[in-house]
Amino acid sequence: MNFSSITGCCFLQKPVIFLLIILPSITFSQEEPYVVRNTTTCVFVRSNHDINSTSIACLDPGTPVTVISTFPFWREIKFGNNKHGWIAKKFIEPATSVPVSTDLTIPDTAFLTIHFIDVGQGDAIWIQTYDDLIDGNGKFEGRSIIIDGGPDSTNLPNALLSYIEGVGYHGADIEALILTHPHIDHYNGAKAILKHFTVKNYYDPGYPSDNITYKNLIRRANGELGTPKVEHIHIGQANFGSINWGNELKVEVLYSWDEAANHPLGSATNTKENNSSIVLRIQYGDHVFLFMGDAEGKNREDDALTPKYVEKILLTNDSARLKANLLKIAHHGSETSSTLSFIKAVNPDIVIVQSGRKSFGGTFLPDNTTLKRYCDNNPNVKIYRTDQGDAEAHLSEAAAVDKDNIIIRSNGKGQIQVKAFQGGHIFTGNFCNN
Ligand SMILES: [Zn+2]
Ligand SMILES: [Zn+2]
Repeated sequence: MNFSSITGCCFLQKPVIFLLIILPSITFSQEEPYVVRNTTTCVFVRSNHDINSTSIACLDPGTPVTVISTFPFWREIKFGNNKHGWIAKKFIEPATSVPVSTDLTIPDTAFLTIHFIDVGQGDAIWIQTYDDLIDGNGKFEGRSIIIDGGPDSTNLPNALLSYIEGVGYHGADIEALILTHPHIDHYNGAKAILKHFTVKNYYDPGYPSDNITYKNLIRRANGELGTPKVEHIHIGQANFGSINWGNELKVEVLYSWDEAANHPLGSATNTKENNSSIVLRIQYGDHVFLFMGDAEGKNREDDALTPKYVEKILLTNDSARLKANLLKIAHHGSETSSTLSFIKAVNPDIVIVQSGRKSFGGTFLPDNTTLKRYCDNNPNVKIYRTDQGDAEAHLSEAAAVDKDNIIIRSNGKGQIQVKAFQGGHIFTGNFCNN
């Protein structure tokens, strides 16, 4: 399917239908031999990649199956006497051990997909790596990574949870949940992710916070609140280790709070917490994606000439590492970030703003002055926002959402594909054109 050719008015009325269209199942000519994992019960095979679809069979552990296609969190299989159906991906494994592949060429069809989900005032990002249908060869493993969870603490309608559950199911594997910093517009919704999915790795800068709801998030990750414990909890940069989401990706934490470094990170508590943010760089082929959390570069009243705080640290450490095709702008596009030398170093083609309708003493984010600096740097920059049209639509609450989602796809070369929405309909403008 040609991603850029998907248009039309009507397919967004149900998120599930929408996701089916943007996440086509991927079919391969080679049929891979798998077996049902050693589970305690039989595993259901369903008529579709949907937990509510009809169950066709229940396969015992060790049953041989062949994999013929994939959909996020699911695999289509053949089993028994040429029967077809869908099984949860996590319940099958290759029949024999698979050698690690050293060929890291990215086929044209191997898309990395990143969803920036409209959660109102806050960040929520779902990254999916490509799935080559061969588990254990070290590349293209079809992993899901979540950065932040937005402000909505409910199970539903929590926009991030609803979005992913549109294709997933309770208990599906999430390779990593990254909490950039302990602010409620980033962690509250993440609680639902811990509740509903099997999170293998949890990352957190470890900045000390007395906030009780944040502390409960950590307790939940530790399995103290009735959900399964996260397999590996990485709190504090020293415990991050090297991150491997498949050898086709280079993943680096460019910055995270480090108590020992004792960097100047501002005086206000809020500023210091923002400046604890994990800053993540992901490279896929020729494309670099930079995720800033709420890291800051100045005080609101300062001019944009002199970087401070995290931007200063990043620029001093290795400014060349900042060059990125796509930037998830820091701190919802606040005037407290995006100094001129930082913008020049990143020089993005695409800027993503995650924001909503929360009044900070009369100020709504993003600040237009911040966005203008990106346009001044490059008049052709494309700026997409998860609060697109929200003021005009009179959205008035921090957690109010109306599906201004942004989906990007990259096969590591050429142009990054962008599909942006306003109120659930295709949006083709951008800030610099307005
Ligand atoms: Zn924030
Ligand atoms: Zn923050």
